[in-house]
Amino acid sequence: VEWRKWPGANDVQCPGGKDLFSAASAFTMTAPWKDILCNVQLIQYVAPIAVDSALLEGVLMRTKDDPNASDVVNYAPFTLLPSAVPSSLLEQAYSVQQDFNLLVDEVSRNAEFLERTLASTVKVDDFTAQLFKIYKQVLKEGITQSVFLGINRSDYMFDYGAEGTPALKQIEINTIAASFGGLTSRTTAVHRHVLNVLGKSKEASKLLTNNPAKGIATGIAKAWELYGSDRAVVMFLVEEAQRNIFDQRCVENELWMRNIRVIRRRFKDVFEKASLDNDKRLHIDGEEIAVVYYREGYVPKNYNKQNWEARLLLERSRAVKCPDIATQLAGTKKVQQELSRPGTLEKLLPNKPEAVARLRATFTGLYSMEMDEEGDKIIAMAIADPDRFVLKPQREGGGNNLYGEELKQVLEKIKDSPERTSYILMDKIKPLPALNYLLRAHSPLKVSECVSELGIFGVYVRLGQDLVVNKHVGHLLRTKAVEHADGGVAAGVAVLDTPYVI
Ligand code: ADP
Ligand code: MG
Ligand code: MG
Repeated sequence: VEWRKWPGANDVQCPGGKDLFSAASAFTMTAPWKDILCNVQLIQYVAPIAVDSALLEGVLMRTKDDPNASDVVNYAPFTLLPSAVPSSLLEQAYSVQQDFNLLVDEVSRNAEFLERTLASTVKVDDFTAQLFKIYKQVLKEGITQSVFLGINRSDYMFDYGAEGTPALKQIEINTIAASFGGLTSRTTAVHRHVLNVLGKSKEASKLLTNNPAKGIATGIAKAWELYGSDRAVVMFLVEEAQRNIFDQRCVENELWMRNIRVIRRRFKDVFEKASLDNDKRLHIDGEEIAVVYYREGYVPKNYNKQNWEARLLLERSRAVKCPDIATQLAGTKKVQQELSRPGTLEKLLPNKPEAVARLRATFTGLYSMEMDEEGDKIIAMAIADPDRFVLKPQREGGGNNLYGEELKQVLEKIKDSPERTSYILMDKIKPLPALNYLLRAHSPLKVSECVSELGIFGVYVRLGQDLVVNKHVGHLLRTKAVEHADGGVAAGVAVLDTPYVI
């Protein structure tokens, strides 16, 4: 074995011996790579090979220091080895995705439901209130958009509850700017190569092919086609700092391959240069826009006064917004909590008892903290046992949730204030840890106890009242070290992974 040193890092740190695998749990999920994990020399040898493979395959990110330049880039963080995923749970996640697509679409079309569900939240949460204001204004003017495109990602963890068998439990559904469909399309090849180099070609051949970038592009292409203007373009609405451009380029290039032109613009460009014609068609720089694909606009920091105006202009237009403002609101944590209330799914999806049962099976405990007696009880319950729960504000992108002692302190502070309705409370999901190496530029190479989060990408297209496309288009596995309560690859916590089905 050729000995190569991990660039700029310490030696592999691996607490050797049998206690590494002593917890039965860690053993189950780590078992496929048991013979490799503590072979320090082998790990040292294969880690740089894995990194080179990631660079070759295009698993890339721009750097924090230079987020808008592509002349110095690095690999996106990823696991050295694929992580075990129970096959029944992967299948279950795929088989409920069309139900989630349908559900999100139904919620987005149900003004009464959105209004009632978000009523208390918009009083105390400025960001949701702003979105809601735009929603109401567009409703009042009348919606001119007739083609609707949803691209979402439903995320899960595997909960090992008291019974000791894993259960698929939803963390959340992302209805705006759900990312990593591009880079994850390329991660499988990296892990396949790593396993081959490690002499595990049988295991390598078992890795599932996965191409959400293509599926997402197919959805955008269908929406573009139904919009019905050959000359019109697709506009990716992008952030000021574009670290994750390669993930987006994967989708973008799929569209160019179909001869659909793509332009990239920021809110600022829209504010300065976009306009609507008499027909509410959207134009910018001499181009008509058929589809606006948001990879921006999901957190307060994306907005200033001008950007809110730009958002309103886009929403008023005839262009297909992915998502439209209603669908963004359908993805709030408050809506997620309301969906779990007994009877809600049945009302939203009448005559679909099987879909309702499949959806409900993925829900864990979600609790509202309205200003009533029930809300008081929930808060007392959480303060008494904070480690059982996660406290979530109406935010996206990772790093916003509260856990443990901090959860308790915040609840104690806001328990008598309406501010409490800007949060929801959720049962903490407890997955089994497994051992892996998280490869991240400029970080030491050491074994970590990790947990994974599985996401399934869903795409749907609706023309007027008819759902003409409703599918799942692939998966994303993200893995993080257990010491981080919160997640997110862009947030710098989780890394890209590939499921190894067991
Ligand atoms: P965001 O929209 O910011 O991604 P999430 O609901 O996905 O919000 O929460 C962020 C991260 O927090 C998740 O990726 C996961 O790691 C962790 N998390 C969220 N909810 C739970 C939960 N109920 N149990 C355990 N971990 C959770
Ligand atoms: Mg989210
Ligand atoms: Mg999330």
